[in-house]
Amino acid sequence: MVGQVDTAVADELAAGFGGEIIRPGDASYEERRRVWNGSIDRHPALIARCAGVADVIAAVRVARTAGLRVAVRSGGHSFPGLSVCDDGLVIDLSLMKGVRVDPEARVAWAQAGVLLGELDRETQAFGLAVPAGIVTHTGLAGLTLGGGIGWLMRKFGLTIDQLVSVEMVTAEGEFVKASEKENADLFWGVRGAGGNFGIVTEFEFELNPLGPNVLAGPIFWPMEQSASVLRFYRDWIAEAPDELTTIVVHRYAPPLPAVPRELHGKPVVAVICCYAGSPEEGEEIIRPMRQFASPVLDLCFPKPFVEHQSMFDPSFPSGWWYYFRSCNLADLTDDVVDIIADNAQRMTSRLTAFPIFQLGGAVARVGDADSAFHGRADGFTININATTQAAEGFEEEREWSRNFWTALKPYHTNVYVNFLMEEGEDRVRQAYGPEKYERLKALKRKYDPDNFFRLNQNIPPP
Ligand SMILES: Cc1cc2nc3c(=O)[nH]c(=O)nc-3n(C[C@H](O)[C@H](O)[C@H](O)COP(=O)(O)OP(=O)(O)OC[C@H]3O[C@@H](n4cnc5c(N)ncnc54)[C@H](O)[C@@H]3O)c2cc1C
Repeated sequence: MVGQVDTAVADELAAGFGGEIIRPGDASYEERRRVWNGSIDRHPALIARCAGVADVIAAVRVARTAGLRVAVRSGGHSFPGLSVCDDGLVIDLSLMKGVRVDPEARVAWAQAGVLLGELDRETQAFGLAVPAGIVTHTGLAGLTLGGGIGWLMRKFGLTIDQLVSVEMVTAEGEFVKASEKENADLFWGVRGAGGNFGIVTEFEFELNPLGPNVLAGPIFWPMEQSASVLRFYRDWIAEAPDELTTIVVHRYAPPLPAVPRELHGKPVVAVICCYAGSPEEGEEIIRPMRQFASPVLDLCFPKPFVEHQSMFDPSFPSGWWYYFRSCNLADLTDDVVDIIADNAQRMTSRLTAFPIFQLGGAVARVGDADSAFHGRADGFTININATTQAAEGFEEEREWSRNFWTALKPYHTNVYVNFLMEEGEDRVRQAYGPEKYERLKALKRKYDPDNFFRLNQNIPPP
């Protein structure tokens, strides 16, 4: 039984609303309440699909007056499904798709409903890019508000490092801007602890020249060679230039056209490269890794950046069941390598694929105090992702993920906030470190003292 919102409240919001109001029982309700993670099954009382800022303001004000619980949704890719709630109101920004690029000033404006692939399409038309994540159907808003790591980060920094300004609607339903010059305290907090302070309706980014072709793609070895591949990899990337960002993935080889049939379903370890510089230089840099042992498949070659960006899309579709445990690691020491290699062999689901992101480069050169984001000095972030198609086998795979994460516990440094499930306040504090966490609490008291925005990696006001 779905909790009801007073009809008068729903009618008040619907009056003059530019977008679409969806109630339980409406034809599109089932589709619109669903989020990316199929294991999340919540039933909001109302979904307000906003067409613009005026709709967002109206939705916040009505929810506030009526005392409704509010979830904010952009791309709907929150791992723990924080962008949908039972009963209350979902303020859904997915219709707000505007993107504008000024190629001369190298600036882009993107509304909150834009997905990563949609932004890349507009910016790459001019050979420009905002560094962001590795799956094109991820929401730009949630990703940016937590930091934003991906293929271009070691060259250009995190997604938040490109941010010039944001436009927001506060918990009072007021429209504000934040940048280094205006509401600088809010701008500091938004870059890492985003959703706690308001609803961002638009982002302004600086753009970087890129491609459009890059040397990029995966090189595969049998998973039983994981420990030796990881040791060689660790030593190889120690001297890597910023142009190179790598991600290591353990998985069963997917049945994709680029993968030969005899490899389908075989356990593999892949070192995936993206060289954000001249492909010729990249060839020199990548050669030692591709010559290590005997790769069973090498798909690292020059290709359009947007093609590389969509490589993981089929591996993380909407509707499968996902569970995550994550931590940052200072280094891939021999002990860490052995734990990873050992646990990789124990995954049972054919759909699980867990990435280890290489950090450093430009990410580490921005001052840690400059934004709420924490952990710039870490070497790696590992995302132990347990995936099944539906409920069958999910519990076992979840247990595998938890045990793997626990085995790494002596080596945990921080955790990236966008890779958290709902893990409690201590883990959110860990994501920001104790000092920033206190500063963020004070900021929360200033901008959202009633914790109106609480369905997020929440920082409750003191
Ligand atoms: C397949 C997949 C791949 C991913 N790859 C990467 C990656 O490469 N790099 C990386 O850094 N992260 C990655 N992530 C994690 C991703 O950054 C987070 O899941 C992020 O929250 C997704 O943003 P969204 O807008 O899609 O999420 P949503 O579920 O819509 O929102 C996530 C959170 O942000 C809040 N929020 C959303 N929009 C707004 C807004 N406009 N204003 C204020 N608060 C808002 C929501 O309330 C919620 O708490 C990935 C996630 C998935 C599912």
